[in-house]
Amino acid sequence: MKMLVGVLALQGDFREHRQVLESLGHDVAEIRKPAQLDALDALIIPGGESTTIARLILSNGFQQPLRDFCASGRPTWGTCAGAILLAREVDNLDRPGIETMHIAVHRNAFGRQVDSFEADLDVRGIPGGPFRAVFIRAPLIKRVDPPAEAIATLEDGTVVAAREGNLLAISFHPELTGDTRLHEYFLTIGTGAREPVAAEAAG
Ligand code: GLN
Repeated sequence: MKMLVGVLALQGDFREHRQVLESLGHDVAEIRKPAQLDALDALIIPGGESTTIARLILSNGFQQPLRDFCASGRPTWGTCAGAILLAREVDNLDRPGIETMHIAVHRNAFGRQVDSFEADLDVRGIPGGPFRAVFIRAPLIKRVDPPAEAIATLEDGTVVAAREGNLLAISFHPELTGDTRLHEYFLTIGTGAREPVAAEAAG
């Protein structure tokens, strides 16, 4: 099914996500104003510099609209800096992001000598063998609290991908490797409208 997918285009590598989504046959909108969010089926918050994107989220009035988007059940995916912005708890971010997902992340976590590296990861829910993951000054996910769940770890157990219903946070850059499986998976994770309250369901 063809979807309209937004990519937050305040800063960072939104064009690379756009290319992957278009190669899958979807329509893509570069999002620069909160009013553009309404029409979307799904949203990606790309990698870049999380302090800069956080500043632009605040100065462009995006914080509450993005929180509302996450709560709407539509697939929402933060990659690298985007994952930092989705987290409820962040080490070393000088202003709030969206703060919606029950994960704690540590920015620039892998130290200078390994600022960038690649690894083959098994990602839960992704068939077809390991996913080649490119890490660029990546954050690590140091804690995953329910209802969030880890879906990929490095060999030493470090969590680098987590999911919470319609929310996905990934430390690496799946838009750079030509493997479209994570983008395809992401578009399936919508949870639709929130569950009706028990009383309504019973009545
Ligand atoms: N180091 C960046 C930050 O903390 C994230 C890097 C990236 O998105 N590739 O914002």
